[in-house]
Amino acid sequence: MSLSQGRPLLSIPGPSVMPDRVLNAMHRAAPNIYAGELPEAVPQLRADLKAVARTSQNVAIYMGNGHAAWEAANTNLFSRGDKALSLVTGHFGEGWARHARDLGIEVETIDFGRRAAVDPNRVEAALRADKDHKIKAVLLTQVDTASSVLNDVEAVRKAIDAAGHPALLAVDCIASMGCDRFEFDAWGVDVAVAASQKGLMVPPGLGFVWVSDKAMEACKAADLRTPYWDWTLRARAKEFWENFFGTAPTHHLFGLQEALKMLVHEEGMEAAWARHDTLARAVWAAFDAWGQGGSGIHLNMADPASRARSVTTAIIPSPDATRLRGWCEKEGGVTLGIGLGMAAPGERMSDGHLRVGHMGHLNPHMILGTLAVMEAGMIALDIPHGSGGVTAAARLIAGK
Ligand SMILES: *Cc1c(COP(=O)(O)O)cnc(C)c1O
Repeated sequence: MSLSQGRPLLSIPGPSVMPDRVLNAMHRAAPNIYAGELPEAVPQLRADLKAVARTSQNVAIYMGNGHAAWEAANTNLFSRGDKALSLVTGHFGEGWARHARDLGIEVETIDFGRRAAVDPNRVEAALRADKDHKIKAVLLTQVDTASSVLNDVEAVRKAIDAAGHPALLAVDCIASMGCDRFEFDAWGVDVAVAASQKGLMVPPGLGFVWVSDKAMEACKAADLRTPYWDWTLRARAKEFWENFFGTAPTHHLFGLQEALKMLVHEEGMEAAWARHDTLARAVWAAFDAWGQGGSGIHLNMADPASRARSVTTAIIPSPDATRLRGWCEKEGGVTLGIGLGMAAPGERMSDGHLRVGHMGHLNPHMILGTLAVMEAGMIALDIPHGSGGVTAAARLIAGK
């Protein structure tokens, strides 16, 4: 017998829970792509996407996942032999840098480890050292989903400016868009990338690239650009087909339309960020309690100022993280995220790490349910832990 009938809950950091409203919006007959409802919906969709990233500038939509959005950004930003400065705080920062290198871009990396945020002073120093201004763009991950670090985007912009360097600032927001505050225009970001399946609550399959007017101009001659990935036509589309360079991702667009209605028009960005903040703090409070009494349980990111609001990476000494994930999935109906990438040289995150995704369509009953199932699993498996994790999370949510 298993207790876990009922609706399963996916608590991995993407893909995230899809609202029934989004699923229902997609469950319909094939629409006409030449006239009618779908072409008419796209201008509002684009306006809503800009509202999510807080920009009045440009956005390009791609059929593809986050890796496709990386490639779109890289190929539009750089020419062969151009240099990128990559700021690495986890597995995904490494991935974006590798992707750029494989395209023939020269990549200089500053690695800040897996338990610390980007230090803007080191960024400024690296840019000052680049006297010939060979660095075309700085690649930053706002939230690295592997380490669950939150980087300070605005501080990196200020570091670039303080160095008197013309480098563009490109930010991977795949794990943070819609969850952690992000201010494209106010922070002076030039390129941001995101995908549909994390904070934006839509199935995987759409990638988004927001572009400043400045970056569009500065990258006009980028020779890595190919016709399909070129952001110019997509971002400045007048005809419906130009948005997608061919047949539109029809049903994803219906899903996205409903998700953006919920996020931008019903909840609002400020409220969505505040909700993610409270739910994240509830998760941290539970881990703090479980870590009492020398259990060895702790969060990967010690400094609360550098913790993501969309995902939490935690250490539960090996092999207990893996045992606990197995129990929660089989007996509790909750699937938790695996550890990803390296924690340190020679130490894989898959050993002794797990991740709780808390991005997108979530409320206290889902978060408290996840934490309570985890606590039950620790009891069932005799995993050493401090008591009161669920109570601590409940207090946080109650605001007491
Ligand atoms: C998920 C993720 C990616 C990769 O996105 P895919 O859709 O899996 O290609 C890249 N960067 C970050 C920060 C992510 O969280």
